[in-house]
Amino acid sequence: MIREPRTPLADLTEDQLEALYTTVEAHLNAPQLRHCLVPGCLREFDSMARMAGNPPAQPSWSGDGWRQLGNGIVEPRNGRYACPDHADLVTAHLPRRIEAPSGRWSVDCACGWVAPPQRWYGLVAPLWEEHLLTVKGDLPPAPPLTDPEHRVPLAEHTEATLAELYDRLWDAEDDGKEAREVARAAMLAYSAAAPALLGVKTSLEALRQRITLDSRDWTQDKTDAWLWAILVGANCENTDPAHVHNDIDCAGDQGLWNLGRQHDIPTDQVIRTGHLRWWVANAIKAAQQIEDAAAHREPA
Ligand SMILES: [Zn+2]
Ligand SMILES: [Zn+2]
Ligand SMILES: [Zn+2]
Repeated sequence: MIREPRTPLADLTEDQLEALYTTVEAHLNAPQLRHCLVPGCLREFDSMARMAGNPPAQPSWSGDGWRQLGNGIVEPRNGRYACPDHADLVTAHLPRRIEAPSGRWSVDCACGWVAPPQRWYGLVAPLWEEHLLTVKGDLPPAPPLTDPEHRVPLAEHTEATLAELYDRLWDAEDDGKEAREVARAAMLAYSAAAPALLGVKTSLEALRQRITLDSRDWTQDKTDAWLWAILVGANCENTDPAHVHNDIDCAGDQGLWNLGRQHDIPTDQVIRTGHLRWWVANAIKAAQQIEDAAAHREPA
């Protein structure tokens, strides 16, 4: 760094002091130009004037309409600012930097595009810049790496291109492993829940049978009526679309309300009892579906 030689105080003149102030002032207010991050764009603005709230030295250096990228975003080589011409483009393609399970780095673009994972995070920003140029139409779309028309012959491969091919393979393998782990966890949860549900169905059906075979009138006592409404059901539960409620062989859809009136049960408790019955009936139905599916899988 070149430094101005320091004049001792005893020798300093008024003019020299004035010149010193002017120089310091000029340095403090020197324009600091920020460039648009889109490769090939030449627009820039004076961030110093912008921060100080002063008009820029040139009108084209105005900061109006510029957009700054936030954190968690890749670091484009030209900085984090997008000019007014490209603010919308960059907003539609905000590049979130992500770390793959393999420890490699990638970009998750707001448009859904994802960069091929790289071992060094510094390599992902240029890939995203290339993607920007592709969506802008400045570059033709890249052919897929495995496209037979564009496969690299052995003689043209380098250590780097081969490493990229292996990186892709390993990332794809990681994805497959993750999917298998999710499926395994779901299978474990299912294999614990299904027998429990089948056991509950057996118990609920035993209770229902015990109640329906009992000769007493289950509607007379309030607690009996409540047990009956939940375990047997006060309403008709025929879900056949062709079924029409009738007075002969079905309980209709007013049975629960009639019970509620008979015992002076508040409306919210009647509704709650209806919910309890629905859960019981639904659990039995779900268990029945599991049993049916298992029976279907058994060889005839
Ligand atoms: Zn621009
Ligand atoms: Zn994008
Ligand atoms: Zn009915």
